[in-house]
Amino acid sequence: MKTSLRHSFRPARAATMPPGKSCVLIVEDQRALSEMLTSMVKKAWQCTVLTAYSLAEANALLEQHGHEIFAAVCDANLPDAPYGEVFELIAAKHIPAIALTGTITKDIRNMMTQGLIVDYVLKKGLPSFEYAVQWLSRLIRNAGLKVLVADDSPSSLEVIRRMLSMQGLNVQIAHNGREALAVLAAQPDIKLALVDYNMPVVDGFEFVTEARRTMGKERLAIIGISGENHSDISARFLKHGANDFMSKPYSFEEMTCRVNQNLEMLELVDRLHHLANVDSLTGLYNRRHFFEQGGIRHGFAKNAAKPVVVAMLDIDYFKSINDRFGHANGDIVIRFVADYLRKHFPDALVARIGGEEFALFSESHTVEVLRPRLEAFRELLPLNTAEGIPEEIKVTISIGIHGGHDDNLNALLHVADQRLYEAKAQGRNRLVG
Ligand code: GH3
Ligand code: MG
Ligand code: MG
Repeated sequence: MKTSLRHSFRPARAATMPPGKSCVLIVEDQRALSEMLTSMVKKAWQCTVLTAYSLAEANALLEQHGHEIFAAVCDANLPDAPYGEVFELIAAKHIPAIALTGTITKDIRNMMTQGLIVDYVLKKGLPSFEYAVQWLSRLIRNAGLKVLVADDSPSSLEVIRRMLSMQGLNVQIAHNGREALAVLAAQPDIKLALVDYNMPVVDGFEFVTEARRTMGKERLAIIGISGENHSDISARFLKHGANDFMSKPYSFEEMTCRVNQNLEMLELVDRLHHLANVDSLTGLYNRRHFFEQGGIRHGFAKNAAKPVVVAMLDIDYFKSINDRFGHANGDIVIRFVADYLRKHFPDALVARIGGEEFALFSESHTVEVLRPRLEAFRELLPLNTAEGIPEEIKVTISIGIHGGHDDNLNALLHVADQRLYEAKAQGRNRLVG
């Protein structure tokens, strides 16, 4: 049996356009600009780019491919449509559009307010095109991302909902703070909340206080909104735990910038968290995460007087695999074992805790259940070959397992480690415990 490995580790959450909607429409009458933008978009997303040089051509493409177009970047001033008429056609197909403009006019801003475009970019060399390409990336990451809007004014609510929906966000609404808390409890995958201060039943401050009991700033970004003219409302929102604040009336441009900035902050924290906790070679959790999470889970189990199980796993004679087949093949073997471990134990905490050493923690199974599962895992391993490495590499591992009530995780792991050492001493490719 061959197991595909080279593709088993994927970088964290690589964003792609939704299936079936993988085209970007570019409408720009200046050929040089159109070509530059096309190549930038293709390079960034490897997607199909449909190009039109006039309103008539854009119309034809929209008729034929409208349902495949994910987003559009269009010149607001085309020979046959000098006042941004193209955006009405695009908005009618519910496609988010970014406008390219030579000058910022009131008309362009109005188009944003009317929901015809998500943003505009001043045509001023490469940085402006990079901004447009970044917008595409934002729209891709927005797809389906949940946002909560809480406001007691139905008209405000509808305007924000329309604007955010246009950007591909999945907008949930609430008419007061209590409703907002209920929506949040039912849908904990909501990433961002925009909340009005002055609402009946539960106001914006109370909402933030309550939401923060369970969700930190890095899990849920909250933007406070208020139409009241007290300068202390913004400070009080922030002190209650909001990430950001906007005063009414605000422009759509401001709201879009703040929403994007807060979503980017969450993604950055997510990325840092991933880098700090996940091993880059295998995609398994690393030592740091294993001890942190294992420690917490062990603590809960101890309070409930429940035994836990730990195991230490180590690849046999790995140094000689490196020596005979090279370090690169050694890496593939490590990834192979990691992948196999992840597949066999999706219900346990598994991690790469050293070079060719792995650890397992479980509070949900007894040692009697896990011992045969680990044995089966050990026996299957040499029967498989990692794709891309010489057939003669037969990977075996030794395992030490221990289940019990010890006071702390380190003490449990110490016993498992001693058993691993015994397994090695008895000739390797075996389980002790
Ligand atoms: P034993 O059966 O007793 O476990 O012998 P061993 O050779 O597997 O153990 P030893 O601890 O002597 O050697 C482990 C080797 O793993 C040494 C080190 O160079 C190699 N190693 C550690 N991290 C990596 C890595 O990320 N990639 C590769 N290719 N090798 C690594
Ligand atoms: Mg033009
Ligand atoms: Mg080893």
